[in-house]
Amino acid sequence: MSSKDEWDYFRNGPSTWVTKFPMAAGSRQSPVNIETKRVESDHEALSSKPLRWKYPATASRKLVNPGYCWRVDTDGEGTFLSGGPLMDDVYKLEQYHCHWGCSDSRGSEHTVDGQAFAGELHLVHWNTSKYKTFAEAAKASDGLAVLGVFLKVGKTHEEMDKIARLLPYVSHKDEVVGITEPIDPGKLLPVRGGRAGTQRCVNPCMRWADRIIPRHENKWDFQDDNGYWTYLGSLTTPPCNESVTWILFKKYIEVSHHQLNIFRNLRKFPRGEECPCHENHGVVINNFRPPLPLGNRVLRECGSF
Ligand SMILES: [Zn+2]
Repeated sequence: MSSKDEWDYFRNGPSTWVTKFPMAAGSRQSPVNIETKRVESDHEALSSKPLRWKYPATASRKLVNPGYCWRVDTDGEGTFLSGGPLMDDVYKLEQYHCHWGCSDSRGSEHTVDGQAFAGELHLVHWNTSKYKTFAEAAKASDGLAVLGVFLKVGKTHEEMDKIARLLPYVSHKDEVVGITEPIDPGKLLPVRGGRAGTQRCVNPCMRWADRIIPRHENKWDFQDDNGYWTYLGSLTTPPCNESVTWILFKKYIEVSHHQLNIFRNLRKFPRGEECPCHENHGVVINNFRPPLPLGNRVLRECGSF
């Protein structure tokens, strides 16, 4: 990477990105804080087309350490995301990756009423109905769709553990390992039921009336899949293209403290390269961009309480 394109979460952190990546200064940037009182309900429009997805576990091909997160690249084969705010356009899964903190109290990019979660998983899709390649879609305002899932510390997550077990093989920047044991990104979503490779459909809006929702300390703390928030935003890493329809699940998934610590052991530098031994000692932590103003954008929700 040339110095011209250099960015990170430390010396060349999010507040400096605008100097090298002009799009980062736009008015449609992500992440944002979700102020639940100001969210607009749009059940009728969003529920007219339920959000649907399909992720064959065989599509996950390789695990990569790009030096600022872990990322699973897929071949997109047989993957599918449509409905909800995406309407009839069909999106394909390109990759999924994660953001986390130095401690369990921070790490997510989006926040809910000012509260951060321990991490945030992103499934990045591109619009195959309108564009020919991921690169082409990434430049278009309706080119990408990202499913976001909050991570909270709790019990060990089985599917996430398949990734955690492979991470020591990509401990340093630019290392890549092939995925032999299938990983189903659908099992990383906070939705009950279904089997690997089967098509799933979530329409919390229509089923809502049938549910009795348990009351918890936090009002977004539920035991079932309970809908999503959606808004128009950007990639949260440079060049911060304003091409993303965000779909954030209201329900979080649980991962263990130990699993997060495995994430925190990833190195920012290639193997053999001297660690400059500045703050953080070269490990990947706090790889999240802080929330940006929502401005005049509308945050809609499907599934309410
Ligand atoms: Zn991300």
